[in-house]
Amino acid sequence: MAKIIDGKAYAEGLRARVAWAVKELKAKHGLIPGLAVVLVGEDAASKVYVANKSRQTVEAGMTSWKHKLPATTPEGDLLALVDKLNHDPACHGILVQLPLPKHIDSAKVLSAVSPAKDVDGFHVVNVGRLSTGQDSLVPCTPLGAVMLAKDVLGKLAGLEAVVIGRSNIVGKPVAQLLLAENCTVTIAHSKTRDLPAVVRRGDLVIAAVGRPEMVKGDWLKPGCCVIDVGINRIERDGKARLVGDCDFASCEKVAGAITPVPGGVGPMTIACLLHNTLRAACAQNGIAVPAM
Ligand code: NAP
Repeated sequence: MAKIIDGKAYAEGLRARVAWAVKELKAKHGLIPGLAVVLVGEDAASKVYVANKSRQTVEAGMTSWKHKLPATTPEGDLLALVDKLNHDPACHGILVQLPLPKHIDSAKVLSAVSPAKDVDGFHVVNVGRLSTGQDSLVPCTPLGAVMLAKDVLGKLAGLEAVVIGRSNIVGKPVAQLLLAENCTVTIAHSKTRDLPAVVRRGDLVIAAVGRPEMVKGDWLKPGCCVIDVGINRIERDGKARLVGDCDFASCEKVAGAITPVPGGVGPMTIACLLHNTLRAACAQNGIAVPAM
């Protein structure tokens, strides 16, 4: 049976290391990293995400601002807020919670965030830096997924990595990060022919598809590492459940290591957001990130 990768424990450790680094920054440089989260509208899931992000930011010793705007907020008002935050020296990270209401052009808003404060790593400047091997702010969930893979496998160089999914927010950045780790990367998507045969090549399989329990155990190379990014809400036996993109029951019998859902990649996202905010604060002040 596969080793179960405890993302919750890893994320707790990362958050504790970030909190320690924040203390160092305060003591040695009088610098307190600050993160502003902007929520437009009343999306129930987004409200929970924003509340969790703000709470964990404060727990890490950072300053947190929550800007809650009504769903009817004109695009111009949101852009004006982003501009104000871009020019606020106490605010080092800006996160605009997605999805935005339909009348707002999300791409325009994300491009308005200063790349230096883009702790979500979605700005095209950061996307370009990542894909050209330059230092950049990296999207949080992909970063967390690759951190877990490195924690389990050590060096990733030379491994066959199969990424299922090519979205801008997960699949593509995961593939770039794995390429930077010297993996041989295959990116599969909805038009891929014979997906099970492609997945079977992977020493490392990262699933970011959004299809409940799609990847089966007999698709896997025995002993491979499976990082399941999927979070799917389903109903089974009359109960609401969260499941990943991998069929955990059959995959754990074949894989060498696997992330559970929940408790795998999910908790890594906010931990990496705090890490990015710490890095952004240091970079904006010309200070090295304290060794963690
Ligand atoms: P997305 O934008 O919908 O992208 C899904 C990708 O999967 C697309 O590239 C699509 O291919 C591919 N795909 C769909 N059906 C497929 C099939 N049958 N075979 C092969 N590939 C298929 O989704 P996303 O935003 O990347 O999210 C993926 C999953 O990660 C979701 O479950 C989401 O909830 C989860 N997620 C978790 C976190 C977190 O842990 N915090 C954060 C973000 C996302 P095409 O490009 O060809 O359409």
